[in-house]
Amino acid sequence: MRYIEPHAHMVSRTTDDYVSIVTAGCQAVCEPAFWAGFDRSSSRGFYDYFRQLTQYEPQRAAKFGLAHYTWLCINPKESEDLVLADEVLSIIPEFIDSPNVLGIGEIGLNKNSRNELKVLEKHVNLAAERDQLILVHTPHLEDKLKGTRLIVDLIKSDSRIDPGKVIIDHVEEHTAAIALDAGFWAGITLYPESKCTPPRAIDIVENFGHEQIWMNSACDWGVSIPLAVPKTALEMRRRGHTEEFIDQLLYRNPARFMGQCPKFKLPLE
Ligand SMILES: [Zn+2]
Repeated sequence: MRYIEPHAHMVSRTTDDYVSIVTAGCQAVCEPAFWAGFDRSSSRGFYDYFRQLTQYEPQRAAKFGLAHYTWLCINPKESEDLVLADEVLSIIPEFIDSPNVLGIGEIGLNKNSRNELKVLEKHVNLAAERDQLILVHTPHLEDKLKGTRLIVDLIKSDSRIDPGKVIIDHVEEHTAAIALDAGFWAGITLYPESKCTPPRAIDIVENFGHEQIWMNSACDWGVSIPLAVPKTALEMRRRGHTEEFIDQLLYRNPARFMGQCPKFKLPLE
C-alpha cells in the first residue's frame, strides 16, 4: 500500500520510526510546527526550531527516501504571551518561502483563551496575505466543541480565506460536521490514549463521508504510534473497504489537499 503521513512531529522521533513508516508505504511526511514538550524561553528557540523544520529534518527524511514537508506558526499552547507571539510571527516570513513549507500551522486554540484567539487571528491574516494553506489544531476533550466553533467562526469571517484550503485537525464525532459543513477539510488523529482509535475513526468516515477527510498519527514526543495510519488500513480491510477506497482516504485525499500548494510534489507522480 501507499499512504501519506500528513501530521507527524518527526523531530521527536527516531530513525527507526523513519524506517518503519517508509517500509509500510509512506510516500511523504508533513510536520506542522507545534509545542516541543516544554515552553521555549524566547523567540530564538522558535528560530532554531524553524531552521530544524526547514533545513535539517528534510535532510534526515531524505536519507530514508522520504519527502518531508512542514508548516510554520507559534502553536496555541505558547500563544498566551502576546509579546512572544508577535516576535515569532515576525520570524515566519523569513522561512515561509523555503521549498518544504506548505503553509501556516498548526494554529488554533488550546484553552480557548482571549490571547490565543488574538494570535490565531494574526496567523489567519498572515495566511490570507500570503495565500497560504492553513492547518488547525483543535483543543482536547471538554474544550474541543467550543474551541472548534470559535475557530471555524473566526476563519469563516475572513472572506479572503477559501475554506477548501483549510484543514481542521483532530476532529471527533461531535466536531467533524462543524468543519465539513462549512466547507473545510477535516483531519482525524489516531491516538492510543486520547483522540481516535482506528475503529472510531472509520466510524466517523462512514458517517460523515470521505471526500475532504485525512487521517494522521500526529506522533510526537508523547505516547503515540507512528504506524497508526497503515494500521488503520488493516481495520478498514477487515470491514470490507476496498483498496481503492483506502488509497483515496490515506493517499489521494492528503495529496489533493496539500497539492493546492505548488511546492508539494510526490515522488510517485
Ligand atoms: Zn500536532
